[in-house]
Amino acid sequence: MQNQHSFDRHDSGTLYLVPTPIGNLDDMTMRAVKVLQSVDLIAAEDTRNTQKLLNHFDITTKQLSFHEHNTQQRIPELIAKLRDGLSIAQVSDAGMPSISDPGKELVQAAIAAALPVVPLPGANAATTALIASGLAPQPFMFYGFLPRKASEQKAVLAALALQEQTVIFYESPYRLAKTLTAIQAVFGERQATLARELTKLHEEFIRGTLSELATWAQESARGEFVVMVAGAKPQAPAISDQPLAAQVAQRVAAGEKPTAAIKAVAKANGLRRQDVYNAYHGLEETS
Ligand code: SAM
Repeated sequence: MQNQHSFDRHDSGTLYLVPTPIGNLDDMTMRAVKVLQSVDLIAAEDTRNTQKLLNHFDITTKQLSFHEHNTQQRIPELIAKLRDGLSIAQVSDAGMPSISDPGKELVQAAIAAALPVVPLPGANAATTALIASGLAPQPFMFYGFLPRKASEQKAVLAALALQEQTVIFYESPYRLAKTLTAIQAVFGERQATLARELTKLHEEFIRGTLSELATWAQESARGEFVVMVAGAKPQAPAISDQPLAAQVAQRVAAGEKPTAAIKAVAKANGLRRQDVYNAYHGLEETS
């Protein structure tokens, strides 16, 4: 067990986790500015990007790069500096550090070294999107970016399909339409909301069914997006009431080969294998 009293006097430095705006610079908090001004060093995902923010707020603190490709090398350096009594603020390019961004390993290393880790509240795309989504705000599940590999993506979606909480994903505009179609194939038809370009001039909310949003995304996906999908209806239906693709995906996630899973689902539903194969692969129905 470990008990951290964040604001007691410490001989070591403190690791501050500082959120930065996700579009609108006015969303920088006064405390975030003060902390970035007062620390000895800022560990930034992209120092050039963060320099623009620092210039805007007249912050002159020195920066060090800390991103996914130098995490392992940087952590011992940063922990040594904290032990020497230097205070460090970690920032990512936008929003909360560690949320689909670098940070987690540094936080874990600081905790392992019994160094104080102090988070600041602030901008975050997921929760900002959620409160205007119109979907149930709690319980919710933040997933972040789905795996890109189709088989891994299907397995994750199958595991999420029965969850009754609102599920939040991040997705790039280039994969948005495909991802919405993949979610619909496994979850079945559900209400969903896209939050686009939050806090920016072209902020937009698109609310509808997964199919409607997938069609919209094929035409209009530009900018940054949060995808939110309503949870499964309470009292999860029996497996045979699930969409065919979900039934297959659940079996595959449980370790069955896709061909065996398709055969089993076809048998359970009294269908032809070809129909289940098509449903699983998102192909047109054959007659
Ligand atoms: N750390 C950030 C946070 O706290 O939200 C998330 C960083 S993650 C690398 C970037 C993804 O967050 C984008 O691809 C998009 O899905 C989402 N995102 C970030 N800013 C956004 C915005 N202004 N509007 C909508 N989505 C945004």
